[in-house]
Amino acid sequence: MSAYKINTFNSLLSIDNTSAGDLLEFEANDPTYEIVCLVEEGEPSELYLADMNYAAAKLMGIAQDMAVGRSFFELWPLDESRVLVANKLLHCLEHGETLCFQVHTGLPDGRHAMDISLIPLLSSCVGRRRILMLARDIAEQRRQCRQLDSLERVYRTAVDNTPDTIVRYDRNCRRIYANRSFIRMCRRPISELLGKTPLEYPGGPSMNKYQRAIQTCLRRGEAVEVELRWRNSNDSEHCSLVRLTPEHSEQGEIASVLAVGRDITNVEYLRKQVHHLSNFDTLSGLPNRDQFYYRLHEMITIAGARVALIMLDLDRFRVINDSLGHSIGDVLLHDISGRLLEYINDDGFVARLGGDEFAILVMDNDNNSKMLKESVQGLMALLAQPFQIDEHELRISVSMGIALYPDDGSSVNELIKFADSALHHVKECGRNGFGFYDRGLTIGLTERMLLEGELHKAVQRTELELYYQPKIDRLRNRVIGCEALLRWHNPRRGLLTPDNFISIAEETGIILELGEWVLRTACAAAVLWNHNKMEPFKVAVNLSARQFVGHDLLGSVQRILAETCCRPEWIELEITESLLLDDRSETRKTLDELHALGFTIAIDDFGTAYSALNYFSRFPIDVLKIDRSFVQGVEQDSQREKLLRGIVALAHCLEIGLVAEGVETQCQADYLCSIGCHIGQGYLFARPMPALDLEFSLAHDQLVLS
Ligand code: C2E
Ligand code: CA
Ligand code: CA
Repeated sequence: MSAYKINTFNSLLSIDNTSAGDLLEFEANDPTYEIVCLVEEGEPSELYLADMNYAAAKLMGIAQDMAVGRSFFELWPLDESRVLVANKLLHCLEHGETLCFQVHTGLPDGRHAMDISLIPLLSSCVGRRRILMLARDIAEQRRQCRQLDSLERVYRTAVDNTPDTIVRYDRNCRRIYANRSFIRMCRRPISELLGKTPLEYPGGPSMNKYQRAIQTCLRRGEAVEVELRWRNSNDSEHCSLVRLTPEHSEQGEIASVLAVGRDITNVEYLRKQVHHLSNFDTLSGLPNRDQFYYRLHEMITIAGARVALIMLDLDRFRVINDSLGHSIGDVLLHDISGRLLEYINDDGFVARLGGDEFAILVMDNDNNSKMLKESVQGLMALLAQPFQIDEHELRISVSMGIALYPDDGSSVNELIKFADSALHHVKECGRNGFGFYDRGLTIGLTERMLLEGELHKAVQRTELELYYQPKIDRLRNRVIGCEALLRWHNPRRGLLTPDNFISIAEETGIILELGEWVLRTACAAAVLWNHNKMEPFKVAVNLSARQFVGHDLLGSVQRILAETCCRPEWIELEITESLLLDDRSETRKTLDELHALGFTIAIDDFGTAYSALNYFSRFPIDVLKIDRSFVQGVEQDSQREKLLRGIVALAHCLEIGLVAEGVETQCQADYLCSIGCHIGQGYLFARPMPALDLEFSLAHDQLVLS
């Protein structure tokens, strides 16, 4: 007698095959049926169990081999399902029909919901009619459904209530989903949003860029981030940072793009405000000193143009201020600014450096000193004409010093220094005039060459030392870390601070070797100072932009970590804004990798570069170090104060840490605390000091204030 093998989850059941037919074969091969049981007719209205699998025996609470021949009704659980199942079985027997239905029944291990199928076996070798009963416990399935439902609810609540916008685009860049936040932001019904491309709605100039980004994401299958400015139906402007992520179909093809956007309108507003305050002088509307530095740098290093730098100073401006009052003085400065703007061409540049000092940059394309001279004479004449302010007719004179790039100097600092010394010379010679820089005016160059030669040997001769300046958390009244600052014990000139040699080191490339030495020394110190520390005591190290290009910075950092057993979380890397403004992919990659290793990345001298501050989304930045010029100006200058508040708000908005440097007075420290910046570094707390001194001060709690 051959038998059908019925695969069930738990067991194999053999049944007589003579009568089963196709139907049985089909059903029996369905492995989702767990309970299989063969029921046979007996006395009128009586049904016996002919065979069953393990799961069925378990349901009925009996051993498998004890069940055969017992009454079905005797064994089926005694609850309301028993009558139902009995009726269905009798019906099936009588009419020879296949039946499917659901019951709830109590099992020893609780109530279960079951899908039951009754299949009549039309004839049987035993001469009595039989029914194959297949039952499946669907409780688990229902539980899973419920779980899925509740999971779905959780996600839906999150998606519906997140302030972020979530939108899905299909392969044709058409919107196929939008969450509530997006709909709210657009102020349009959803029907008008779906099916549209970004260009169709909301449209506007930046949507071209956005749509291209979506297409790139679809094509390359890589996530991208874009910053967008757009207007909603009420015409209010929004700025969003959107992350586009490709979504794949089951076949693994890119089917759509999910766009998750964060409204950064606030951040953008603060960014603009900080940018304006940090780059323009409010009185004259002219660019300020910081922007001037940046522009000069840009003109000579990036454009490589021939430039004349003119430093201009009003003669005896104090007299006007003192005799006619500051408000007249202010108007005069404003009007002078107007004339200076009139003087420069489109390719020139004028900035107010502060007080009555201005700087002018003019292109010297023809390299013709006679023309330049005439042009400056023209400027003198223009400014010599009287200014009418209220009832006063004011006449002024100015002194100007001029330095030429590249003839006189090749760096920003040199040019400024040389133009300044030319200006000084003019003043000493009686003011009201101008003069060109003459080499005789400074003796700087030879000294510079000497230093350069000595610097080459300084590392090997161990003339270098790191000083450390503590950083104080004023909320917790604790020293939380320090900054490593380089010192050079020059045998000829004594102890030198970096201002005297870092630029030489950068120009000559010595900075690479120097930088490695600094990092190695600082890492070794960090290992010592973090011994047995719960919280990392971070040592900040200054990195020069030169170290990032054409040099395997990451490799040397990793080597130093391995050599010193230093952990990245003990080190903070201070970089300057100008490095980020360059935006080389090499720099970005290195910074990302350093950040991924666990280093903290801080922007040094924050606020001094002429920057649009839009690098925050592209670079991994943890901390802003507010430049000391802002901190120190704050007591006298309301513009600086506004700017400081702007920077603090920006940092909070971006969830970036803040450190104020150059804190010299209690008043500055208190003010900083009051606007939300409690970490400070500066002479008020401590000057930079040798490692041993710092250890001593830390051990004796000398650095915390009352
Ligand atoms: P920085 O990174 O802005 O460092 C802070 C400078 O401000 C230090 O000058 C410090 O002595 C000074 N300072 C600290 N507190 C106060 C204060 O309350 N008032 C005032 N007026 N100044 C304060 P330092 O040590 O002369 O360093 C000058 C610059 O040299 C540094 O400016 C940094 O840009 C650079 N530098 C220092 N060490 C290194 C280094 O190892 N590598 C590189 N690449 N650059 C370095
Ligand atoms: Ca620094
Ligand atoms: Ca700094």
